[in-house]
Amino acid sequence: MSTVLEVEKVSKAFGGVVANREVSLSVPEGAIIGLIGPNGSGKTTLFNSIVGYHPIDAGSIRFRGEELSRLRTPQIARRGLLRTFQQTRIFGKMNCIENMQISVPHADDSLGTMFSRFDESVTGRAEQLLKFVGLYPKRYLRAGDLSFGQQKLLEFAMALMNKPKLLLLDEPTAGINPTLINGLIDRLKRANAEFGITLFVIEHNMRVIMNLAEHIYCLAHGELLAEGDPDQVQNDQRVIGAYLGAG
Ligand code: ADP
Ligand code: MG
Repeated sequence: MSTVLEVEKVSKAFGGVVANREVSLSVPEGAIIGLIGPNGSGKTTLFNSIVGYHPIDAGSIRFRGEELSRLRTPQIARRGLLRTFQQTRIFGKMNCIENMQISVPHADDSLGTMFSRFDESVTGRAEQLLKFVGLYPKRYLRAGDLSFGQQKLLEFAMALMNKPKLLLLDEPTAGINPTLINGLIDRLKRANAEFGITLFVIEHNMRVIMNLAEHIYCLAHGELLAEGDPDQVQNDQRVIGAYLGAG
């Protein structure tokens, strides 16, 4: 397997707070990789650095061999690297189809984008992906009227509209009820298997990440603490200690 994302000794501080210190990790093409760690351990900061949301202080981030650390978020998105957020970002007053349509510009930079995004193919793809996440019957409902879990599914479908090669998911199951969590895990696995999308997932729910990821990295205090397959990480005394220490 080739490496799609290579993070090498990345450091990032906010004033005096070191959020990431010399973090190195890699994501193989086609994999589902997990990122865990107590609250405040620097997980979201690392995702923000990867997608160019802020400059890093030191280190290197390469996507399919290309250095990203000097590119801006839209340029990185156009290369097929997208993220979703811990808080959902949908447009509550628009219906699901409209939310899907406006999420397209990341994928296509051409002059025609503004006009083409409402064309048949985009709408057709929006409907297909809404079917994929189980929201097709609710496609004309205002996104704001969906349950929180359904909003998360919509956000996931919106990301898929851009045909990402690598999708970073920041706590996709946070705040979702257990029934929808299982549905979401299933959709993530299918997006990986059927669409070939590599996934890098921050997850607070241990059961979820153990079920989902084939390899897991654990951060603590901004540093890489441990890594391994789910069994190794689950039984790693340093990981257990970090979680217990964080309460
Ligand atoms: P996690 O996602 O693992 O909970 P974060 O990456 O959000 O952790 O935060 C790591 C540390 O960096 C925390 O101490 C947090 O307060 C700090 N931090 C994150 N973003 C900012 C910011 N924009 N400004 C100042 N401090 C920040
Ligand atoms: Mg976070």
